[in-house]
Amino acid sequence: MNQGLSFDKVDKVKRRELLRQLGFGLSGSLLLPQLLASCGSDDPGPEVPFDGDVVVIGAGAAGMYAADILRAKGIKVTVLEAGNQIGGRIRSLRNQKDLVNLSVADFPVELGAEIIYGSDSIWGTSLKNFAVNTVDVGEISSDKYVMDNIAKLADDWNVDGDFVNAQNFVESLQNYFGPSVTVKQAAASLSSRVEMLVNSQIGNLYGSSNETVGMAGVSESLQARTHDDMHLVLKTNPMQDFLIFRFDQVRDLVQLNTQVTSVDATGAKVLITDANGNQIETNKVIVTVPLSILKQNVISFSPGLPGAMTSAMGKIGMDHSIRVVIDFKKNFWGETTGFVWGGTSFPNCFNAGVGRSELNQTLSITINGPKAVELSAQGPNMINTILTELDTIYGGQATAFVRRDFDTNEVLSIIQDWGKDEFIQGGYSYPMASATLEDRKDLGLPIGSKVFFAGEATDISGDAGTINGALASAERVAQEVIKSITGE
Ligand SMILES: Cc1cc2nc3c(=O)[nH]c(=O)nc-3n(C[C@H](O)[C@H](O)[C@H](O)COP(=O)(O)OP(=O)(O)OC[C@H]3O[C@@H](n4cnc5c(N)ncnc54)[C@H](O)[C@@H]3O)c2cc1C
Repeated sequence: MNQGLSFDKVDKVKRRELLRQLGFGLSGSLLLPQLLASCGSDDPGPEVPFDGDVVVIGAGAAGMYAADILRAKGIKVTVLEAGNQIGGRIRSLRNQKDLVNLSVADFPVELGAEIIYGSDSIWGTSLKNFAVNTVDVGEISSDKYVMDNIAKLADDWNVDGDFVNAQNFVESLQNYFGPSVTVKQAAASLSSRVEMLVNSQIGNLYGSSNETVGMAGVSESLQARTHDDMHLVLKTNPMQDFLIFRFDQVRDLVQLNTQVTSVDATGAKVLITDANGNQIETNKVIVTVPLSILKQNVISFSPGLPGAMTSAMGKIGMDHSIRVVIDFKKNFWGETTGFVWGGTSFPNCFNAGVGRSELNQTLSITINGPKAVELSAQGPNMINTILTELDTIYGGQATAFVRRDFDTNEVLSIIQDWGKDEFIQGGYSYPMASATLEDRKDLGLPIGSKVFFAGEATDISGDAGTINGALASAERVAQEVIKSITGE
């Protein structure tokens, strides 16, 4: 049976029903009242009578949206965030002070989520409703592919049989109904010339490498997706600023620098303890921390996490991740290039300024999984490793044109090592060989009627590992909490 497609249909119907019951959170719309008329779905619906309150743990996309929906329903909400800013894995560099190390980056530089998947997805629709300027990367740029240390457009590689076979493999990913194997196992018949290419287009893109990412899990997610395939970036607004603006009414409900270490739901109320020993009592808790944080037992739960959830944790991974951004004096990779796929020491780079920078001389590189572990161990020297490989592909131009600090001669670059970020500890979740969407469902199982779970890893709409997945999980968890209050 085509499980993915049937899931798709069920999910679409469920989401429509869910939105009808919930309405959207109102924050952003209240700031732009003229938009209310055009946004029928921003009606928060009837208030939910509730004497108690809800604590949301984590102020990333999932936490902010879940809090906004509940707040709009008249429920008292507090958000506890371990870090010193709102956004989680949405983090942007936005002004001269932030960008001191990137002299030619005249556009918002993203350290985490950068691509908006789907113009009609949850996040894409939000951006459209607020008339935020976006650039359609697919429309204005063309990707390049590296084989034999040469980067060329698909049209130029299309005479190469190995390349054609590799792209057929990548493009048929969403039609995969074979056994539960890793991408590497499924790609065993492809030429070794395309190994790194396929690794960057699938393994790295989905959060790790072809050695660990599961074919069936990725395929099932792609089948479940209901939005279009457009890839957008923000033209002038930093992603983090839009997130904060969108959920503006929640901003004052966030308590920063509050790392939760225990959630005790054994009594009549839930007792939450933070790293400084402070305690808060509440009626219900929504946990939205990254999967890696749950896996490492940073937060202790009583009663413990459901067995199905802990066994699902063994099948859904979250590996090391690094974002590196480097400025050059010349764009030697191509003004209209989008992504360059297929690197060896770093899997892909993105021409981050395409469509939004006058100079267009900045590369943004995302490294996940074992490659990220290797580079992280090199510390700042990872920049040399990246330049060396770029030199091999582009005939020494990377070292020749990289921008350096006048005084220290150091390369101007930014390294965001997410694996070393105390409150994130990785990139984004991915399915291992035997994982299915059922496992993600299990990651979202509640503990009784008091402790609920959301966050990108719990998404079952096909968008896990993305902002859309985080937001979809917030809609699901808000509905669960409301149901637990109303009993309906
Ligand atoms: C390098 C990189 C590139 C990415 N690229 C894209 C992309 O292009 N497009 C896309 O859609 N998505 C992308 N993503 C994924 C996207 O950023 C995430 O899926 C999404 O932001 C996750 O939101 P969340 O709310 O589930 O989790 P988070 O944003 O991680 O929020 C969880 C919050 O919990 C907090 N927290 C942790 N521990 C505690 C604790 N003990 N107590 C209190 N708070 C705690 C954290 O500080 C964090 O703020 C990328 C991610 C990375 C790392």
